[in-house]
Amino acid sequence: MKDTAKHQGLRNQLVNTLKEKGIADKNVLEAIKKIPRHLFLNSSFEDYAYQDKAFPIAAGQTISQPYTVAFQSQLLEIQKGHKVLEIGTGSGYQTAVLCLMGAQVFSIERQNELFKKTSVLLPKLGIRPKHLSFGDGYKGLPNYAPFDSVIVTAGAPFIPQPLMAQLKVGGRLVIPLGENVQIMTMLIRVNETQFEKHEFGEFRFVPLLEDKN
Ligand code: SAH
Repeated sequence: MKDTAKHQGLRNQLVNTLKEKGIADKNVLEAIKKIPRHLFLNSSFEDYAYQDKAFPIAAGQTISQPYTVAFQSQLLEIQKGHKVLEIGTGSGYQTAVLCLMGAQVFSIERQNELFKKTSVLLPKLGIRPKHLSFGDGYKGLPNYAPFDSVIVTAGAPFIPQPLMAQLKVGGRLVIPLGENVQIMTMLIRVNETQFEKHEFGEFRFVPLLEDKN
């Protein structure tokens, strides 16, 4: 597992591309500058790892495009120590970005192969989420709730009610909503019963799937 000056150079270029596309949050850009994305991909993709593109990972899933990761991370307005729930751990790249931004990350993945792989990879890279869970993200993690924010990294047909319930007042839920194309949607919890909705244009994700059992 090597991270070279060449990789660092490519990462700096990627950060510039993200800035040009409108990502301004310094903590997000700093995290992307530091994380060796090529180590989250199969080695055959090493040469492409710093292109602003999604790539296939195991179990028919994808690592999100860096712009998408940056865009969602920026919407969360993370502060150090925030408890963040992530649905769809996948490669662990988004998890790593949130950890480097200072969040306590709780993440759920429903593909066992990815859950196992990422549980091994992250500590090897010195990245320590608070909790990685194998299971159904539609249910959230009630035992660890409430969260300062919730990020869903797969396209959801609707907003799972438990994820809304597990959000602190003032907290943010960022979720791509839709079947073929998704609208990036953010809910801010205004009080116990009310949520404010914001929409941010189209993105494409693999689907958030219902429980296998
Ligand atoms: N953040 C990841 C994105 C991976 S793609 C990355 O950048 O690598 C979305 C992930 O969501 C996939 O790994 C998929 O298996 C997972 N997923 C889909 N439905 C899920 C569910 N109901 N609960 C938890 N994870 C789910």
